[in-house]
Amino acid sequence: MRNIPVGTWLDCGCCGTWFETWEGYVDQDQDEGYGICRKCQGEIREHDEAEWDKAIATLREGLNDQNRAKFDAMPRIQQKAMVWDALDKGILTYHIVPRV
Ligand SMILES: [Zn+2]
Repeated sequence: MRNIPVGTWLDCGCCGTWFETWEGYVDQDQDEGYGICRKCQGEIREHDEAEWDKAIATLREGLNDQNRAKFDAMPRIQQKAMVWDALDKGILTYHIVPRV
């Protein structure tokens, strides 16, 4: 990971916008001169959370009433851990698809 000084101008590798890095900007492992702008970082995060929502809902579907009630009472972080566990055990499968 490179250390990119605040105020460096980069090309967004996602949308192509020319943007200036902000305080706390974390290098996004792009090629030299490239980064990910604030807007795209937000969209990627939202997209990830939407994927989590789907995975959590899918896992929840497969539970019996008693386990579903327990699952619903869990904090989201623990529900995510259950999803990872289900993926590890092959109970759930995940398909990577291009974003539209
Ligand atoms: Zn962008």
